[in-house]
Amino acid sequence: MNLGALFRRIIINANQSSSYMKSRSLVYHDIHSNICYTNMSTSLDLFINHIRIIREMGFNIVSEITKEEGQIQLTFDDGFLGIYDNISVINELDVSVKLFIVTSFIGKASHLDKKQLVELSNNPLITIGSHTDSHRRLSSLHKDEVLNELIYSKEILESLLDITINDLCYPEGKFDKRVINIARDAGYVNQYSLIPGAFLIELFKNVRRRSLVQSSNKKDFRSILNGGDDILERWYMKKHFKS
Ligand SMILES: [Zn+2]
Repeated sequence: MNLGALFRRIIINANQSSSYMKSRSLVYHDIHSNICYTNMSTSLDLFINHIRIIREMGFNIVSEITKEEGQIQLTFDDGFLGIYDNISVINELDVSVKLFIVTSFIGKASHLDKKQLVELSNNPLITIGSHTDSHRRLSSLHKDEVLNELIYSKEILESLLDITINDLCYPEGKFDKRVINIARDAGYVNQYSLIPGAFLIELFKNVRRRSLVQSSNKKDFRSILNGGDDILERWYMKKHFKS
C-alpha cells in the first residue's frame, strides 16, 4: 500500500459518522470472478459484501440520487468487460449501475464492444454516461479539444444506444472551471468527479462528488458510507482541481 492509500485509510476510519446516511455515489472500475481485466477490478466476493453492507445500513441503491439521505449510487468507470461477464450477479443482486464509457475504448481488449454495450444499455438496471472519447485529462487540453472529447463521445453513445447522455465523468478525476463550463454548454446535466462527500452538496454547479471504494475492505467501506472520507475533500481538490 502506498503512503497516499495508507493516509486515506487512517483518515477514513478516524472520521466516520460526521454525516450519517448522506446519499453517496461510489466508484468502481470492474468486478471479476475468474477473469480479471484490470488491477482496479473488485472481486465479486468483496462487491457482494459491499452490497450487503449498503443494505444492512438501511440505504437504497438507486440509478439516480434524488434525496439528500439514504441513497447509494454505484458507478463503474472505463467500460471494462467484467461487468458484462458478471451481469447475472448484477441482475440477481438487483442493483442499479451507472457505466461511464470511453468511446475510443469500445471494442478494445478487455473492454465492452458495441454489441455488448447495446445489450447492457437495454438492461433496466444499467444507465450509461460518457467518460470522454480518449480518456485524456480534460484540464490539460486546449478548449477545442475538450469540446471535441465531450461532444464526440456524447454523439457516439447517443446514436449507438438511442438514449440521451446526461452524465460526464472526468478522466482521472481531473477538472477545472473551464472544463465545468464547457461540459455544461455541451449539454451534460451531471459531472462526476472523484472528490468525496455527500452527493447533493454540489462542489460547483452540476459537479458531483463520488467516493472511491473499489479496494475498500468491509471496515473501510462502512466508514466511507458513514462519511469517513468527507474530510479528504481538500486533499482530493488539491490533486484533481486545477484552479
Ligand atoms: Zn477512467
